[in-house]
Amino acid sequence: VTEWQGKHVTVAGLGVSGIPAAKVLHGLGARVTVVNDGDDERARAQAAELEALGITVRLGDGATLPEGTELIVTAPGWKPDKPLFTAAERAGVPVWGDVELAWRLRGRDGREAAPWLAVTGTNGKTTTVQMLAAILKAAGLRTAAVGNIGVSLLDAVTGEERYDVLAVELSSYQLHWAPSVRAHSAAVLNLAPDHLDWHGSMEAYARAKGRIYEGNRVACVYNVADKATEDLVREADVEEGCRAVGFTLGTPGPSQLGVVDGILVDRAFVADRHKNAQELAEVGDVDPPAPHNIANALAAAALARAFGVPATAVRDGLRAFRPDAHRIAHVADVDGVAYVDDSKATNTHAAEASLAAYESVVWIAGGLAKGATFDELVAGAAKRLRGAVLIGADRALIREALARHAPEVPVVDLDRTDTGAMLQAVQEARRLARPGDTVLLAPACASMDMFANYNKRGDAFAQAVRELGA
Ligand code: ADP
Repeated sequence: VTEWQGKHVTVAGLGVSGIPAAKVLHGLGARVTVVNDGDDERARAQAAELEALGITVRLGDGATLPEGTELIVTAPGWKPDKPLFTAAERAGVPVWGDVELAWRLRGRDGREAAPWLAVTGTNGKTTTVQMLAAILKAAGLRTAAVGNIGVSLLDAVTGEERYDVLAVELSSYQLHWAPSVRAHSAAVLNLAPDHLDWHGSMEAYARAKGRIYEGNRVACVYNVADKATEDLVREADVEEGCRAVGFTLGTPGPSQLGVVDGILVDRAFVADRHKNAQELAEVGDVDPPAPHNIANALAAAALARAFGVPATAVRDGLRAFRPDAHRIAHVADVDGVAYVDDSKATNTHAAEASLAAYESVVWIAGGLAKGATFDELVAGAAKRLRGAVLIGADRALIREALARHAPEVPVVDLDRTDTGAMLQAVQEARRLARPGDTVLLAPACASMDMFANYNKRGDAFAQAVRELGA
């Protein structure tokens, strides 16, 4: 009999985190009730599957706290101001996110729990944990990149597979709901306004991200160019001996990783006492070698080095790494113009990074702005823009920013949000482009006004480019 036997646990939200959480808890002997706001066809099918196992599911009512609840395990996306949580607080019921649950369940079957190397940030999380996993694998370690894509954290800690160390991607939502997670080492890649509607303010968003450093044992990795990340390290309560380690695209200072003459260099974890720097890899080993991606590689390298991985494994891992689809993916060259899909650039900070990677760009942008403003992005990119093609619901915001900061840049404003708009956008972009230019889909917006998700948006772009070439 374990602590879970007969325990009344309410799982908030069906979906990618709720369903596995409900199953695992049920398997441990807990009395699980799943509550869900929605009551559509998909929810009913998912409910039926859980009910067949003996799990209670309440559809269409995510607000009321089920009688007798001793613990809530919530989907990360649920906002803290929901009535369910107010009720829980009043009743003294703790609320854990999916990550907190995974943390508490690790090592339960008597095996040693794999330490976590954790990554958060506004942009670059998935890429960085994948680079990190590639490096750890190159060092011969049993590992997985867990988080948004690939293996789920809960599977990684409760499944059959054994790991020496995990490369863990954590969102600001997940961190908000994960009070007791203690990473071996962690990195905050960057901090730009995003999801402010959820967190309520930039301070609350930063605080949630800063949580990742709490209790770190070996290193807190921060971005030298983003002072807010360094401030979070300073505010964190860490284990004695834990070091602040910076990464920079410039020459590294002591306790930093950086770039010298095209070489990624480590000055934080140098084993040889006669050397003050260790060469790790070449910029050209990173795919793509765009500045923001070199920064991701340095952050991954810092975490791997904190875990004791040798320099050769950093190089081999980075060489083995290939970015996921729709992240600055080169689709094709047509008439001397490169077509690049960065559909995953769903906010202005990401779009800024990808625009900065090219000299002369025809920019395809627009979609759902999520409350963002575009002045800074457009002003910074103005001199690189050959032209812009705007799509999607909130394109007027970008058009107005272009008029303010880049009045001479030709703009095509496509007044349509049907899926076929992408083909027209690519055709318009081709007309604006000159040989040597890059046509870049970096929407700076979410996709859901026109597409199911950013993958579909990127696929539509790639398909349109193929039709040009045909
Ligand atoms: P996340 O998991 O944080 O969403 P991804 O690795 O999936 O991050 O990258 C998302 C997008 O963010 C990429 O397509 C690219 O446009 C941009 N990006 C990646 N790394 C960075 C970075 N370090 N700084 C700014 N933008 C970045």
